[in-house]
Amino acid sequence: MPERFPAALQEKLTERLTFYQDIGIQLFYRDRYPHQRASVTEEIPLSKPVQKPLPAKPVVQPRPVPPKPDVFPVASDPSLFEAMNRIPGDTLLKIQTDLGDCTRCKLHRGRTKLVFGDGNPKAELVFVGEGPGRDEDEQGLPFVGRAGKLLTQMIEAMGLQRKDVYICNVVKCRPPENRTPEKDEVETCSPFLLRQLDAISPKVIVCLGSVAAQTLLETNRGISHFRGQWLDFRGRKLMATYHPAYLLRNPSAKGEVWKDLQKVMVVLGLQGKKGSQAGKSS
Ligand code: SF4
Repeated sequence: MPERFPAALQEKLTERLTFYQDIGIQLFYRDRYPHQRASVTEEIPLSKPVQKPLPAKPVVQPRPVPPKPDVFPVASDPSLFEAMNRIPGDTLLKIQTDLGDCTRCKLHRGRTKLVFGDGNPKAELVFVGEGPGRDEDEQGLPFVGRAGKLLTQMIEAMGLQRKDVYICNVVKCRPPENRTPEKDEVETCSPFLLRQLDAISPKVIVCLGSVAAQTLLETNRGISHFRGQWLDFRGRKLMATYHPAYLLRNPSAKGEVWKDLQKVMVVLGLQGKKGSQAGKSS
């Protein structure tokens, strides 16, 4: 049978369609698991058994539900980050120069390359992860391994490309054996992240995983308490969602993340604008 598409394109299409199916979009191709959804397609009997009418229930007046706040406060105390002044005229280049060949914390000892961040310096959307892994440490770029590939799929599903957004991490050097960054490492490195966020001034920050969310929100609460809700970070909208590495271990959570990203798309005006640009200008 003649090939309809080049092999590389076929592979990319397969990956993309699999990703869409995993996040619950199934309208434009065949369901891979039709037997698991048999109940949806079961035939409805033409004649139903006659049922006795149920006795009328007393009418209960619904209680008024208070409106949900648009921005959910996590900490009542003023944030340490809130207290840090913005540096007028700060740029990513200046921050990178200040960071230099950084040896401020012990993570510098095991790194191959410092991973500063990558993307559009004027992005309206910034993704913040935890720290570099092995592939990132080798290449000096954030999210280039398996989890990075998944993040790229998510960005493209939003109608964007990686070059439209900015991607960085809480710590810029790989923790040994990919362990969670320690408190002193986060405290030493995160002021540079804060400067990056101030310099880019995005409309929306998406924290990928609990380390990024807990760092920026200065909370010890588990991410499940506030995942998917709009939060405030120095006057900007912040959304915390699961890390792509978590999704690789728990693919069933992809749908939840997609719901979170759809909320981001609404704020950025991306819904229904497939292929639109979220950067103010590259
Ligand atoms: S993790 Fe951050 S503070 Fe620590 S050495 Fe690397 S760049 Fe410096």
